[in-house]
Amino acid sequence: MTAAVPALEVRDLTYRVDGTTILHGVSLRVEAGRHVSIVGPNGAGKSTFLKCLNRILLAASGEIKVNGRPLAAYSQPKLAREIGYVPQGGTDDIPFTVFEFAMLGRYPHLSPFTPTTEADEEAVRNALAMAGASELAERPCYTLSGGERQRVLIAAALAQDARILLLDEPTTFLDPHHQQDILKLLARLHRETNVTILSVTHDINAAAMTSDEILALRDGRAVFHGPPADLMQEKVLLDLFDQSFLFVPHPKTGQRLVIPEDAQ
Ligand code: ADP
Ligand code: MG
Repeated sequence: MTAAVPALEVRDLTYRVDGTTILHGVSLRVEAGRHVSIVGPNGAGKSTFLKCLNRILLAASGEIKVNGRPLAAYSQPKLAREIGYVPQGGTDDIPFTVFEFAMLGRYPHLSPFTPTTEADEEAVRNALAMAGASELAERPCYTLSGGERQRVLIAAALAQDARILLLDEPTTFLDPHHQQDILKLLARLHRETNVTILSVTHDINAAAMTSDEILALRDGRAVFHGPPADLMQEKVLLDLFDQSFLFVPHPKTGQRLVIPEDAQ
């Protein structure tokens, strides 16, 4: 029996900018259909890591394989058919309606000089529906609330029809209800489409509750990769964040959750 090809395989990834090394030899293997959360302090290199996977940034050395093929073997449109990316931050300045913006996600499927087809419009409508954003279709992007914006960014990534989704802090600026909304959306996508998800978050408890695996970065190095239960350990979290945590069981599931120790 041959082993399944992993969705992502990263070996010894190093990224430098202006003589500063931002990522130091990060390795990670993600099997297809896994939901991986990426955690770590501010400035650890989480966003840089996602951008290298998506070739927004070019790694200095190391190897990245996407569905078994080296990143270099993909043209940018071909890569965009494999990897959808939801960047950190907003859509404030985007001078498009939601529908037009989500249609941009179809660009890897379009040939030059060919207008979008009914099939592209259908794909965008489906993506908006999947992300619960259909009713926003005609709204200008700059009018969206934080939660709506995240749904639209996710819809645009879904319109790409990619089998791997990278999300950079999709819940950070949302209120608790809208955080849950996005987490539920990702869980549903994962369940219904078996898409591979890599999601950066500062919410350790949400990461533990929703993901199959966690990668922790600190100072540009992968310092932990494993199941959530192995991350939720005093020493692992202290070393990662320089912060003590108290551990409490989830009132309904008993799963181990954390509270920062100095919090009142
Ligand atoms: P995270 O997403 O984990 O907060 P980032 O990947 O955004 O971290 O950044 C990692 C580190 O790299 C930070 O210290 C940041 O200041 C630095 N960095 C990122 N991009 C550049 C750049 N273009 N020039 C210099 N330093 C950078
Ligand atoms: Mg970041």
